[in-house]
Amino acid sequence: MDRTDGQEPARTPNIKKGINEMIKRLLTYIALVAVAFMFVLPDANFVGSIVLAGFVVMPIYIPYSIWAGGREIDKWGENFLTGRTRADYLESNPDSFSNGKFKSCHQCGEKSVYLKQLGNTKHGIHQGHICRGCGTELWRSNLS
Ligand SMILES: [Zn+2]
Repeated sequence: MDRTDGQEPARTPNIKKGINEMIKRLLTYIALVAVAFMFVLPDANFVGSIVLAGFVVMPIYIPYSIWAGGREIDKWGENFLTGRTRADYLESNPDSFSNGKFKSCHQCGEKSVYLKQLGNTKHGIHQGHICRGCGTELWRSNLS
């Protein structure tokens, strides 16, 4: 069951969106370098400048953006628990617990929580503890 009428838990940085972003930037850089070539090289034509710019930009930008994307995912995994642990949740919502045991969701009062895997990095398997009633992510934990 996956309710979405609450706060949608944050997932690993979206790969598909990242690739779209990468392609957009790649085309922008190629266009900019092509324009630069047309100014700098006296005999450069439009198509030739774009091809040349592609050969210059692609071998630099593609490996760089793959590296940067990996780093972004690692950082996300590293900071996954920051301020979002069960202890943090207990501290900000003491009424949701009795004797240190989870009692009910602070939003809707539901007693049942399920685990949702939100990502997997070198820092562990990252999971959200989600309220079955309203879909709010209550706290987070890592499996290593
Ligand atoms: Zn709830």
